[in-house]
Order: sequence, then C-alpha cells, then structure tokens
Amino acid sequence: MSIKSAPIRLSIVGVGKIVRDQHLPSIAKNADYQLIAAASRNGTVDGIDNFKSIEAMLEAVPSIEAVSLCMPPQFRYEAARTALDAGKHVFLEKPPGATLSEVADLEALAASKGLSLFASWHSRYAPAVEAAKAFLASTKINSVEVIWKEDVRHWHPNQDWIWAAGGLGVFDPGINALSIVTHIMPKPLFITAATLEFPENRDAPIAAAITFTDADKLPVTADFDWRQTGHQSWDIIAETEAGRMVLSEGGAKLSIDGKLVHDEPEQEYPALYARFAEIIKAGISDVDLAPLRHVADAFMLGRRKFVEAFVD
Ligand code: NAP
Repeated sequence: MSIKSAPIRLSIVGVGKIVRDQHLPSIAKNADYQLIAAASRNGTVDGIDNFKSIEAMLEAVPSIEAVSLCMPPQFRYEAARTALDAGKHVFLEKPPGATLSEVADLEALAASKGLSLFASWHSRYAPAVEAAKAFLASTKINSVEVIWKEDVRHWHPNQDWIWAAGGLGVFDPGINALSIVTHIMPKPLFITAATLEFPENRDAPIAAAITFTDADKLPVTADFDWRQTGHQSWDIIAETEAGRMVLSEGGAKLSIDGKLVHDEPEQEYPALYARFAEIIKAGISDVDLAPLRHVADAFMLGRRKFVEAFVD
C-alpha cells in the first residue's frame, strides 16, 4: 500500500556494490519512491540524471526530497550535512558514520530542520529477527553466543576503505550481528572484554573476540572472524529455559531445539525503504546508535594483537 499520494523524489549517492545489489532493485519495486538522480565520482545509474558530486546534484535538481548515502562510512558525514542543509531527508547506509559524535550531530541537525534522518540497520529486517525477539522475551535466557565468520576475500574484494581507520574491518559485518543482538535482547548488554586482531599491514581488525554481560550477569560472547573459508557462519545462539534458540543465516532462519520454526524469503532492503517512507511521513527520525556504540566500546576496551599481514 502506498503511504503517500506523490512518490518521494529520491536520489542516491555513492554508486557501488550495495547500491547495485540492493538499493536500486528495492527502490524500483516501491511506488513510494521515484529515483530521479544519482551522484558518484565514477558510478552511474541508467535512466536518470547522474552527477559527479552531491553538491552538483542538489544544485541542478532542487526538486530532490530525499537522499540515500551509500558511500563508505568515513565519507558520509560531509554528504549528510550537505543534504540536510539543503533541506533533504537522509537515509544512511550502515554503519551510520565513522564516529558516534558525528552521527549525533546529524541527528540534532535533522531535528532542528524538521527533516528525517534514518540510520539503517538492514540485518534488523531479516525475516526471523522479530520471531527471535518474541521468543527471547517469553523465556529466561541462560547464555548467548554470536558467531559471525565469513571470507573477506569473497565479500569485500579490493575494498581498501574497509581496512582503513574508520572502515571498521571485521566489525563491518560484525555490526550487523550487533544490530540484531541489540534489537532482540530484552536487556541492554555491555562489553566486559575484547581482543581485536589487526593484520600488521592494516588499520582495522580482521577478527574480534568479545564478551558482554548485562545487569543480571548474563554471559554473552561474540566471535567475529574474516578468515573463514568454506561454510560461512552468521549465527546467534541462545541457551534458554525453553530450549536452544538458533537464529542462523544472518537472521533468516530460526530454530528452537533443532526444529525450524521460521524460514521466509529475505526482504531486508524493501523493508528499509518502507521504513524510510514511514518516518518521512511521520516527520520523525530513526537513529539507534546502540550497535555503533558497542563497536566503539570494543575499540576502547579491547586488547590489540597483531597478526600476519593481509593481502587481497
Ligand atoms: P563500495 O562499493 O566500495 O563503495 C560504494 C561507493 O562509494 C563506491 O563505488 C564509490 O563510488 C563511493 N566511494 C568510495 N570511496 C569513496 C570516497 N573516498 N569518497 C566518496 N565516495 C567514495 O562499498 P559498498 O559495498 O557498496 O558499501 C558501501 C556501504 O554500504 C558501506 O557502509 C557498507 O558497510 C554498506 N553495506 C554494504 C553491503 C555489501 O554487501 N557490500 C551490505 C550492506 C551494507 P564512486 O567511486 O563512483 O564515487
């Protein structure tokens, strides 16, 4: 159902992998949007006006109402500020920025201008996440284990930004796990210890082992690793009074004591764009910094260990 009679005139900035894989197909299927322009130094989108910079785009196409910012996080703040200053609603890819403070600044700016800022967390919209949240709310949790292990060479080939300071390294996928955990756990968690493994030639970690707890001393661990070849693991496992919960495949499937109870097709980016239209209509922002706060805490509290150099 369309929630607005005239579609939101949308533009996109930073045309790369995630724009092509997810944003363009999701926008094309959503009648609430009309994609009218894109800005990217090299990338282009067929069938619409393309510009080299956000400044050039906003000047040439003043009818733009909203902007999706899909460049790497280290370069997002300036673009977000430019868009908000020009009176546009802003969709931020995850992670919403390179620091907590810059995103707080954007949130305040959006509020002062009556604009919507959306810090998107796509994994929160994975099909079985709400069912996992409801299950955990219905029982007593004894422990939680997060296992997020993937092959960086497969998923992030030649992405230098991801290995630079502010690119987050293994926390780029790890923050997806944290976005789910912070949504489904009944009580807030906090980090008690972490070990971050940095390749000796890189400024971002390739692996991280983290322990968390909560006010009730719940034991929670997270194991993030980018050196996993073969089977890829994106699992959140909770031992509970009502059985062993396994939320697997990045939030796509839920099983309790080995029985599959939830398995639906993935619709993360369509759901993100539905939410963005909803908050624009409601005149609110949606900026939850909890996942990024955990990453900042891991960098603040974590031991650093140097490991062998990483070569693409
Ligand atoms: P990407 O393809 O490496 O980068 C996206 C685009 O940003 C590039 O094509 C580039 O376009 C632009 N860009 C790169 N460096 C820039 C710079 N220094 N200044 C301004 N623009 C720059 O990355 P991606 O995989 O699409 O990821 C982008 C964001 O989406 C990240 O925050 C990532 O965490 C998030 N994300 C990615 C995935 C995924 O599967 N890849 C999934 C979910 C979310 P131009 O050269 O044309 O300017």
